[in-house]
Amino acid sequence: MTSYDYDLFVIGAGSGGVRAARTAAATGAKVAVAEDRYLGGTCVNVGCVPKKLYSYAAHFHEAFEDSAGFGWSLSEPPRFDWATLRDNKIEEIKRLNGIYGRLLDGAGVDLINGRAKVVDAHAVEVNGKRLTAEKILVAVGGWPWVPEFEGNELTVNSNQVFDLDAFPQRFLVLGGGYIAVEFASILNGLGADTHLVYRGPLFLRGFDEEVRNFTRDEMAKKGVNLHFEVNIEKIRQVETGLEVTLTDGKTLEVDAVLAATGRRPHLEGLGLEALGVETLDSGALKVNERFETSVPSILALGDVIGGAELTPVALAEAMQLVAHHYGDEAPKPMEYENIATAVFCHPNIGTVGLSEEEARERYSSVRIYSADFRPMKHTLSGSDERCLMKLVVDDASDRVVGVHMVGEEAGEIVQGLAIAVKAGLTKADFDATVGIHPTAAEEFVTMRSVTRH
Ligand code: FAD
Repeated sequence: MTSYDYDLFVIGAGSGGVRAARTAAATGAKVAVAEDRYLGGTCVNVGCVPKKLYSYAAHFHEAFEDSAGFGWSLSEPPRFDWATLRDNKIEEIKRLNGIYGRLLDGAGVDLINGRAKVVDAHAVEVNGKRLTAEKILVAVGGWPWVPEFEGNELTVNSNQVFDLDAFPQRFLVLGGGYIAVEFASILNGLGADTHLVYRGPLFLRGFDEEVRNFTRDEMAKKGVNLHFEVNIEKIRQVETGLEVTLTDGKTLEVDAVLAATGRRPHLEGLGLEALGVETLDSGALKVNERFETSVPSILALGDVIGGAELTPVALAEAMQLVAHHYGDEAPKPMEYENIATAVFCHPNIGTVGLSEEEARERYSSVRIYSADFRPMKHTLSGSDERCLMKLVVDDASDRVVGVHMVGEEAGEIVQGLAIAVKAGLTKADFDATVGIHPTAAEEFVTMRSVTRH
């Protein structure tokens, strides 16, 4: 029998890699993980965590304004200090990096700081050293991608935007995905004059149409300047900032441009091409339900295999992968339906299940329950922010197949409702649930009139 240095060699200590390494080690496997940048990967360092911290920071803006109607007055106008937020964020992330290091150490996983390259089906090279493993797990995640245009080197990507030296008082985001929409809300909330430029007719493609329209209107009300069906033609450095020329001929002068134009699998220089590891058209690695690539000893999970590129998905895939390869019996295949998600634009979006459009394609008849209202808090705050709640129901089975919300803490609310959708509960079950009063969320169990069929 061949003996290897490791049973499992993980490349990338991000969300999926760390979970797979720890869980595999707990079964008795000898595991190493190589990481060349930061422990915890994208989510901890330049993704979910810093973004949510910045989103909290941005919400204070409204909280100060809303408080006046409740009797509060501030002795001085509130001022925002970017360096305090950025540096406190840096400290918190250092703390989390330490936790990840200790978790790996405690699990008995060897951590190797360095960039790994796969050299054959059972060997990797890190820091000039060749190490062998029965299985190699590629958990390298994705990397921001910026399209070609004149001056694109003057943009920052989502890795860089968190640590800008100075706060951009005038800010432009290019892109229409959730990261673009979130950063537009964050910078706008922190006080920047903010523009979002997107080449399509409306951002957040793939989300429920009513949710997208509602979000557009709410973001515009909050002051984000939205430019749809237009792109950046060129960017030029001028004395007072960056001059951005749009394809419709308009020019805007800003202090920073964030290119939130997508992410690609981080496969450059990894050596997989030479081994003939197959990819999908998107460039993501192709895997079977055991997370094996076309070279069966090379496994892959997380953002590098595409699909729903979210931390909880990478974590779930890691647990599945370990159950398949180190467990006693094969688990049921991973289910990718009904994955709840949030967009931390302002107001937040929370969503699970099918959009109205998807449900209409899948079922012969649907019922839509939709409520658009002014939350109680804003009766005194004076804010004109509205809230949207929506249920999509398959008429034949009465099952709730989609839940959508745009409003304060939508992610927190929809997480609970995701259990109901996952469990296949019906509209009658929702109706039989007694609400919590007074909350905004009670609307989800009190919507009785069908908005449309
Ligand atoms: P990653 O976490 O990206 O980890 C990959 C690791 O591999 C990295 O640490 C990298 O340095 C390392 N690596 C790469 N190549 C090598 C190599 N050759 N050798 C050694 N190490 C290597 N998801 C959510 O669920 N909620 C959110 O709110 C959310 N917000 C996000 C906001 C932003 C701005 C971004 C960019 C992403 C966000 N995500 C969010 C997505 C989430 O971060 C990813 O889905 C998740 O991190 C994927 O985990 P992963 O293990 O596949 O890869």
